[in-house]
Amino acid sequence: MTTPIGNTRRAFVRTSITGAVALAVDAPAQQRGSTTLPWYRRAYRWGQTNITEKDPVRYDIGWWRAFWKKTEVQAVIINAGGIVAYYPSKFPLHHRAEFLNNRDLFGELTKAAHDDGLFVMARMDSNRVSEDFFKAHPDWFARNSKGEPYRAADKYITCINSPYYEEYLPGVLREIAERSKPDGFTDNSWAGMGRESICYCDHCARRFREKASMALPAEANWDDPAYRKWILWSYERRTEVWELNNRTSVAAGGPDCIWSGMMSGSVTSLARSFRDLREVSKRAGILMLDHQRRDDDTGFQQNGDTGKRVHGVLGWDKLAPESMAMYQSGPGYYRVASKPAPEARMWMISGMAGGIQPWWHYVAAYHEDRRMYRTPEPVMRWTKQNEQYLVNRTPVASVGILWSQRNTDFFGRDEAGDLVDAPYTGFMHALVRARIPYLPVHADDLGTTRGISVLILPNVGALSDAQVESIRKFVAGGGSLLATGVSGLYNEWGDARANYALGDLFGVRRLDPVPKLRATTRGGPGRREGAADRFAPEGHTYLRLIPEMRAGVDGPKAGDEPRVSGQRHAVLKGFDETDLLPYGGTLARHEVASGAVVPLTFVPPFPTYPPETSWMREPKTSIPGLVLSERGKSRFAFLPADVDRRYAREHLPDHGDLLANVVRWTAGETIPLHVQGPGMIDCHLYQQPGRLVLHLVNLTSAATWRAPIDELIAVGPIKVSVNLPTGAAGANATQLLVSGTTARTSRRGRTLEFEVPSILDHEMAVIAL
Ligand SMILES: [Zn+2]
Repeated sequence: MTTPIGNTRRAFVRTSITGAVALAVDAPAQQRGSTTLPWYRRAYRWGQTNITEKDPVRYDIGWWRAFWKKTEVQAVIINAGGIVAYYPSKFPLHHRAEFLNNRDLFGELTKAAHDDGLFVMARMDSNRVSEDFFKAHPDWFARNSKGEPYRAADKYITCINSPYYEEYLPGVLREIAERSKPDGFTDNSWAGMGRESICYCDHCARRFREKASMALPAEANWDDPAYRKWILWSYERRTEVWELNNRTSVAAGGPDCIWSGMMSGSVTSLARSFRDLREVSKRAGILMLDHQRRDDDTGFQQNGDTGKRVHGVLGWDKLAPESMAMYQSGPGYYRVASKPAPEARMWMISGMAGGIQPWWHYVAAYHEDRRMYRTPEPVMRWTKQNEQYLVNRTPVASVGILWSQRNTDFFGRDEAGDLVDAPYTGFMHALVRARIPYLPVHADDLGTTRGISVLILPNVGALSDAQVESIRKFVAGGGSLLATGVSGLYNEWGDARANYALGDLFGVRRLDPVPKLRATTRGGPGRREGAADRFAPEGHTYLRLIPEMRAGVDGPKAGDEPRVSGQRHAVLKGFDETDLLPYGGTLARHEVASGAVVPLTFVPPFPTYPPETSWMREPKTSIPGLVLSERGKSRFAFLPADVDRRYAREHLPDHGDLLANVVRWTAGETIPLHVQGPGMIDCHLYQQPGRLVLHLVNLTSAATWRAPIDELIAVGPIKVSVNLPTGAAGANATQLLVSGTTARTSRRGRTLEFEVPSILDHEMAVIAL
């Protein structure tokens, strides 16, 4: 793909969203001013000035009120209490901000926000306290196996099973609700201590014994029944605390005064702190995401993915605002320096495309780097102008990627980044690159998911029998499957099954023994996830592309000479001039059912160094790298080669192309969108009554794969072809609501086609049906 880079300076000076044309908004009934929905279903734009202890003497409330107005926020998050109190609390051990004196900064800010017509969420941060508190209530604190308190810097960590959570915090919530009447509460650290540390305090010991009839696990060991029970018990406790806090808040502040603790956008991060995204989503009126920036390896598309994943379990009618750092937050962490505006805005835009509501976030109320104050306004203003298109919409996609937090826990264990996240990310990247719309699908929600015709299992090792059964039902209903790696080779505890739970559907049986998952990585040599095999000699492997042949009918036979002619399968499209693809992984031996197609086979490792030795000792094997089959309306692709993980790690275009090809073959004609043109464009398609809404987020940049972007590079023209819903005629023009223009459409069969001349940061097409 080529990238036109002309015109970039001008593009940089004027971001496209500042130039957006304001369109008349026919506000739906549920927007501001209406009382048909509670406030937390109507707050689409958020702001947060995270108050430092110094701020009580320098917080210019008038200035920030003007900033709220300028950035069009409808709700603000204001620090109230927890580690630090910003009001004169009646609780003597509730540590007041060092510079608070007797000021009620939280109360003043809440009143100012209410006077301005804004909603207020009181922010708590409540998992640690200072030494005086510890001395007063030594039995409220998390302790290690020697009985010593767990500490973080000079603070002491409170135990999630102690009266701190059951008596003290509810008292603080009630005090804040009664004094200042915020509209709701959130909490930055509500889930207490993470999975890395087991608490052996008396409360934990007693409660665990009551629940599990056994002592707390001695150490982290995924094969130990006590540790397994401790993991599940720890999750249940967090969900209980969620319910307790919400009950307390509603009782003190009224039915709409909800409590909603912050959640990470990373499932692995949620797993490490026992926050169950699906269980929390069932209970949350609004989901508060603390997911402020992209990682080095995942790109902006990760935020669109997070939005779709969260709404998948939360529902698309609820809101999911996300804290977005306006300060430099990685790589390099500078709390009071401005993040480059394009980096911050692209994160906001990418999230919005996935259904996330924007929420600017500053640390401290006073800044010497004032550039950051210019950052959020254009995105916030554009969001307001177009809010009717950004909420209450149904995603349109035929491809689903299966995930479950249980798999992250019991299959991923201490290596979830490598075993779970990387394969998922590889598909996410490949699908975004190929402009194929997809949705994350929770393994327990498959029965109620609509519109998905292909389900991808990216190395989803752990599946329960019930999940296996629902996948079988999906197939029985005409669905197709694509699985990679060791999907279904383990049960919900990560214990090995005799063979793949879905092997009969894929037409494979594993011949090599099923590897046992690592019980623990504690105390072992430090292992950098994903890097272990990068330079290992066994990693110098390839996949051989072979002409179409059916297993058991016409080969392949070991020792055959590579063939350069013959009909190849559609999944090998674009690889005509090569008989090999780089691979890098290993492959187990599999027996393939008669009639299945094997378009790729394994080339075992051979030396890389010295170069004189770098020749294939075994050019051809019968070890399958990809197995394809069809039955009725369903297609099945099994990719034991972990090409998805490798694509996430290495970004080799061959791997991305192969994954996209396999998805396209498996999906048949069901993909509803085709987008042609240069660049990397993240596409999100939605339906609303009477129209389709299409986001095209331009990720093409010198910094696509590593933050920060400081320059936007326009791409175009982009040709869009979208399937019309049954019975829809399609209007002859499409509105482009970022550039403020109209594109002429043409109808071709069931599809509507139009061209977007140029996309700088993003475009949103509204297609009338
Ligand atoms: Zn404890």
